[in-house]
Amino acid sequence: MKLQKTDAEAWLAAAKARGLLVRIAEFEAGGAVDETITQAADLVYPLSVQKAGEDVLAMLKTGSGPALGVVGANRNGFKGMKISVHGTGLLCCPLNHRNAEIMREALPYTAPSSLQGMDVTIGVGDRLGIATGGHIQLFKLLNEKTLKKKVSWAPVFAQQSVREITLTDRTYEDVLDSATWAVFQEAFVRPWGADGDHLKTPEWVRKALKIGFTMITADVSDYIHDEYGVQDDAAVIAAYEEKLDPEQRARLENRYLAFCLELDTGEEIRIARPDLARIVLIYQDALDFAHQLYQVGKKMDKPFDFELSIDETETPTLPQAHAFIAEEAIKRGIKLFSVAPRFVGEFQKGIDYIGDKKEFDSTFRTHAAIARHYGYKVSVHSGSDKFTVFPAIGRHTNLTFHLKTAGTNWLQALLTVARTEPSFFRDLYDSALKVFPKARQYYHITPNLDNLPQLGSLTDDGLPVVFDNVDVRQVLHVTYGELLKEPTFREAFFRIMDEHMSEYRQSLVEHIGRHLKTLGLMK
Ligand code: ZN
Repeated sequence: MKLQKTDAEAWLAAAKARGLLVRIAEFEAGGAVDETITQAADLVYPLSVQKAGEDVLAMLKTGSGPALGVVGANRNGFKGMKISVHGTGLLCCPLNHRNAEIMREALPYTAPSSLQGMDVTIGVGDRLGIATGGHIQLFKLLNEKTLKKKVSWAPVFAQQSVREITLTDRTYEDVLDSATWAVFQEAFVRPWGADGDHLKTPEWVRKALKIGFTMITADVSDYIHDEYGVQDDAAVIAAYEEKLDPEQRARLENRYLAFCLELDTGEEIRIARPDLARIVLIYQDALDFAHQLYQVGKKMDKPFDFELSIDETETPTLPQAHAFIAEEAIKRGIKLFSVAPRFVGEFQKGIDYIGDKKEFDSTFRTHAAIARHYGYKVSVHSGSDKFTVFPAIGRHTNLTFHLKTAGTNWLQALLTVARTEPSFFRDLYDSALKVFPKARQYYHITPNLDNLPQLGSLTDDGLPVVFDNVDVRQVLHVTYGELLKEPTFREAFFRIMDEHMSEYRQSLVEHIGRHLKTLGLMK
């Protein structure tokens, strides 16, 4: 939506009539926002009002959507339209990329930062660019009183993969800027991160860091040679001896055949020759590529958090492989913030864990201990809604982990639609079923399509119940790109979300809050 001059003028006239602009101009940072401002919540987001140098900044509510208002000499250099009504002036600025960049300089808390040293980091992402307000509402509830254990923590508000921004027709600039504006609007003044998620090329690493992202999740899956995981020892040894020259093999064998990692769980990790051969064949190229991506980041000369993601493979990561990867990453000079192994069982999007919970428990415990030994965090991807394994994740890491949840805020948006606009939800559901065959190719999910209910038999009040059905959740989860491609749908959907924003926020607070509680982070 483009900022209209008439809307800006209407805003200024209304603000003037209520003395609001004068109060904003007089506002002292650090002092409480006074009643005039708080009571004018239909005109301004009260929490946003902040001093930046000589200027006072505020997020305005105009007829053409939120806009940045600048009162003062505009020393920060925001770009917008100067308007004045009877001698009172205001700079009214659109929420574009240029102004977001200026904002990150003017108020540093609106910029993401490296989260090195934080015990718990949680990527919530904001697929649609409308969920961060709700995420902030939740994270503001985390404090000494509500934390179960004294740990440091930070959210990662911006977190999108290239796949997601392609499907939603967004840009990395927009993903970061949306988070910045939400942080400004709600005055979230603690550190937060921005994750260039599942990046697979040096170009994307460079681009993400240049835009201002502070975390890189290096996805090296294209270089992982999974096929050796299923071959027998003899075939693996033959391939190993053919592909690596004797000198390379001697170097690896000297190092790893005598290797013994003693973990604080009492476990010992040793690597036998056939396992070493297999691990080298599967991961060597991936490690070299990770190094290349890391080097690209280092050259940008700003601090960033580097996550190595090896989770998108067919077979689970063995503890021996995890230890080897950690050793080899360190040898290459890679400073790891986190590593995302592929765990046993299935971490499918938007639904609970599928698999043997006991086996998950014992293998996760080992991965967590390896990560602890090497001083980085174990990272759990597709981490939304994994309620049955969250207690184990919290416990075995002693609350030191990185968790990524992403699409669950889209499902909560659809739940809000089902609760508030049932007839639109019925149409949406039918469309989702139609586009599902196309949408499913982007994701690894296995819904049982015979288990999808017909909404015709449900009353409006009964519609939210379909969100308890895992097959419905999966279908709705992955069809966002196809649904949002349709302009009339897109327009109606965002209008509805705008109208029901407080319900949406509340549902995020509850749903993501349940994650934090089950993980053992929040009381
Ligand atoms: Zn992943």
